[in-house]
Amino acid sequence: RSKQSGRNTYRVYLEEMSEKTKQKFQLENALPEAIVKNQLTLHYQPKVSVMTDEVVGFEALVRWNHPELGLIMPGEFIPLIDESNLIIHLGEWVIQQVIEQLSRWRQIGAPLLPVAINISGHHLHSDNLAGFVSKLTQRFDIDGALLEFEITEGVLTGNTEQSIAAMKALKKTNIRLSIDDFGTGYSSLSYLKKFPVDVLKIDQAFIRECQSKREDAAICKTIITLGKSLGLQIIAEGVETIEQLTFLKQHDCDIYQGYYFSRPIPAENILPLLEQRLPA
Ligand code: C2E
Ligand code: MG
Ligand code: MG
Ligand code: MG
Repeated sequence: RSKQSGRNTYRVYLEEMSEKTKQKFQLENALPEAIVKNQLTLHYQPKVSVMTDEVVGFEALVRWNHPELGLIMPGEFIPLIDESNLIIHLGEWVIQQVIEQLSRWRQIGAPLLPVAINISGHHLHSDNLAGFVSKLTQRFDIDGALLEFEITEGVLTGNTEQSIAAMKALKKTNIRLSIDDFGTGYSSLSYLKKFPVDVLKIDQAFIRECQSKREDAAICKTIITLGKSLGLQIIAEGVETIEQLTFLKQHDCDIYQGYYFSRPIPAENILPLLEQRLPA
């Protein structure tokens, strides 16, 4: 390879970088408007019982329907606002959407299953999360037990005392709490008993090769045994194959989520999916 082409490669790289950076700023600036203009939407992914294959709940996952760029996934825009107050604004929007959805499902007589919401650290540690939730659950007459808040393990490793206080306030509204992406956050296991959590979600990185890699299998088995012995419910994320599901069955995992059963789907597709899955 000539020096010339090396230099060109470098220049292309720089141009790509600035394209990326440009898009980043573009998204960051457009996001406040996105909520007002109704461009955000929630998809719901079923949570399924490992033993019975019944749907036992959902996780709400945000998407941005951008007029020019199309459907943008949260991995592309949540990190841009995760430290700002915009994430609180987005989080409140998600909570309200989910509560309104639950009340619509109740209105039409659909089965009411708990819905999990991802809450960022900044929002958890903000002033009035519990107050905001209890105001809305009262207004729509929704039992807090129909909501679950997922908090990533990384958030809990930093601000332990602040997190515990915020979680305790949430527990008073009946909300279930789970630790998301568990196993990736380098938290000391002894912290687990300090947090008022109900659920551990095994990170999909460990599920991916749980039936072929000895280390990943060991990590999954350990999380399941440890979690259960602490009285927690265990969810496996990112289950894509029957082999992974078989492994989870063998090792007594409670619940799974993943493309094997269903991708996250729009709310209007949820009821047809539940009806399809009903025993004949
Ligand atoms: P998460 O909470 O760990 O969600 C799991 C992610 O894995 C979702 O990606 C989901 O679509 C994807 N997934 C589910 N099953 C499978 C599978 O079988 N295989 C694979 N490869 N992936 C699967 P998504 O929707 O792109 O969300 C990514 C992350 O963005 C979430 O990770 C969560 O941390 C964050 N996020 C999503 N919605 C919200 C939100 O409303 N608020 C906040 N603060 N964060 C959110
Ligand atoms: Mg989650
Ligand atoms: Mg996760
Ligand atoms: Mg994640």
